[in-house]
Amino acid sequence: MSSYQVVKGARDIFPDEMVQWNYVEEVICRLAGVFGFNEIRTPVFEYTELFQRSIGASTDIVGKEMFTFCPDGSERSITLRPEMTAGVMRAVLQKNLFASAPVQKLYYISELFRKERPQAGRQRQFTQFGAELLGASSPAAVAEVIMFMMQVFGELGLDGLRLRINSLGSADDRRRYREELRSYLAPHYGMLDQASRERFEKNPLRILDSKNPDMQEIVSGAPKLHEHLGDEARRDFDQVLGYLAGRGIDFSIDHLLVRGLDYYSYTAFEVSCTALGAQDALGGGGRYDSLALELGSPKEVPAAGFAVGMERLLIAMQKQRLLPEAVPPGPEVFIIVPQQEFFDHAFDIAARLRSAGIGTTIDLAGRSMKAQLREANRMRAASALFVGGDELASGLFPLKDLASSAQEALSLDAVIGRLRHASIIKTRQP
Ligand code: AMP
Repeated sequence: MSSYQVVKGARDIFPDEMVQWNYVEEVICRLAGVFGFNEIRTPVFEYTELFQRSIGASTDIVGKEMFTFCPDGSERSITLRPEMTAGVMRAVLQKNLFASAPVQKLYYISELFRKERPQAGRQRQFTQFGAELLGASSPAAVAEVIMFMMQVFGELGLDGLRLRINSLGSADDRRRYREELRSYLAPHYGMLDQASRERFEKNPLRILDSKNPDMQEIVSGAPKLHEHLGDEARRDFDQVLGYLAGRGIDFSIDHLLVRGLDYYSYTAFEVSCTALGAQDALGGGGRYDSLALELGSPKEVPAAGFAVGMERLLIAMQKQRLLPEAVPPGPEVFIIVPQQEFFDHAFDIAARLRSAGIGTTIDLAGRSMKAQLREANRMRAASALFVGGDELASGLFPLKDLASSAQEALSLDAVIGRLRHASIIKTRQP
């Protein structure tokens, strides 16, 4: 027992659960390769302005949820990243990656930090996997991003998914629509809740996304963004939908979907899962051509991406019984040392086996032989190798298969030969 507890809103992931995380991450990394996305890692903190400029000063994330601090009074304020897109775009622009290839396809599995009220499916440190396709945002590029995300869910076997999609139109479409929406909302201003009043001036579109049931009547009577889309946005959206339909991806059009961040335009989407209960959002994304301009790039960078919450993905998979058993893999061999005076010899043998690439465990706690055997079985070691005085004298070591209990005395070279063969066969298994 320690007098310290994990910080509220954060959690530890122990080896048994890591088996399940590794399984999901392996599927993500493999499919990223299939779709041609390469992994990127950026620092967990960035200068605070990066998020203020990109996510938008009026959003909940920037307004209330960032962990921000000055390393020492005089230095520039920094913030633990609350999302990945801004940092990835910053990194790519800073390194001028577009000079070598005009389209950059990047993916990540990374920890994020938001000062939210912790509850089931909502943490203060959480993990997202996501992709950013930078340098293209044609309907095919947007569709490709969505197809990658949906194929990950498909490969993991998830059921009960709902993909909702909308077009937010061009910046001009939204400017015109914003004015119209404000004129509609102005006479209802007294009935707006506090959050919506705050959004009224800065970003009235986000009022449409309100989860407050009292706001639904006002929202449902509001003018519709999709009726204000220009021809170009309409055509673009139809093409994205055509690509998805052509690949058999189910979706529904949701004209009220606007997403929480300011930088989206044209296509935006969210995916939810019925297995998740109240916090049913699994992920979302969209197209964000103007983000690079906000970050000081002299020209727009067409771009699209998505992010999916890993913890929620694992919760959904757990509920649908899609996760592998949470048991870390056992060693190939557990060395049993019946008499402790021979420990150093046994320790040398362990080193030889490991040099030969054989997964080897040896008791380090000086336990009895019975306790060592129990431990070997608990760890699901494939075999046990006995190293005692008689064995060292004769050069023949009993190797016991712990599944079948078959036992054979072998020279050390023969042991290495046999266990190596077993390891190779195991690593070749899917
Ligand atoms: P967002 O970047 O807010 O669109 O979030 C994308 C996905 O990340 C959500 O659908 C969730 O699955 C996950 N997510 C966002 N915030 C949290 C949080 N505080 N705790 C756990 N997962 C989160």
